[in-house]
Amino acid sequence: MKNKPVIDLHTHTIASGHAFGTIEENALAAKEKRLSGLGISDHAPGVDPHTNPLSFAKLCNVPRQLYGINIYYGVENNVTNEGTMTLDENLLSALDYCIVGIHGTCYEPKDAVTNTDNLLKCMAHPKTFFVSHPDDGYFPLDYERLVLGAKEYGVALEVNNSHIRNPWRMGTLENIDIYLKFCMQYRVPIFIGSDAHEPCRVGDFEAAITLLDTFGFEEDLIINNDEEKFRQFIGFKD
Ligand SMILES: [Zn+2]
Ligand SMILES: [Zn+2]
Repeated sequence: MKNKPVIDLHTHTIASGHAFGTIEENALAAKEKRLSGLGISDHAPGVDPHTNPLSFAKLCNVPRQLYGINIYYGVENNVTNEGTMTLDENLLSALDYCIVGIHGTCYEPKDAVTNTDNLLKCMAHPKTFFVSHPDDGYFPLDYERLVLGAKEYGVALEVNNSHIRNPWRMGTLENIDIYLKFCMQYRVPIFIGSDAHEPCRVGDFEAAITLLDTFGFEEDLIINNDEEKFRQFIGFKD
């Protein structure tokens, strides 16, 4: 890969309840990995009972630069079985971006049609720019519809480094292969996320890079290998 990711937009801090780094520790780790930007995307309520929704209200108090790293305010929101998301709308509106993903702690698996319907409803939300780890076969998806929906709503799908590094979920590698093919066919962007829950994992993209290189994925379609491209994608204004 010629242009590796320069922003890690999928990272967790102690505010998620089950992650271990502070924002400062994650920013220092991003600096050590020579990234230019870091997105804080803690879990919305529904994954861990210890997530405090107020932490999202306070996120805008975090400086826009820490240790020379640009900081973005995000969330990893949850899909519900009603096709809604679990973070309060007012809290969501103040953030730079929303990642949405299916998490088994607050979602009962259904058939591929229903799961895809529910995810697409969340992708239609104007704050949603990213889908996390749509690769777990325990929550089957119709990948062609998912990718076409991503194109329609201006959403990028994740290639999740953590899921590839530890591929114990059902069909992860096969499923990634399927949606990457559709992304290339329909020219739909992806992003590489570390999904770091520890500072040492911030900016860890190696397993995903190896997979994408082996696949022969087009680098132009990767959103987070250029900070300006990322900012335009989420409509970020200083
Ligand atoms: Zn997740
Ligand atoms: Zn995550």
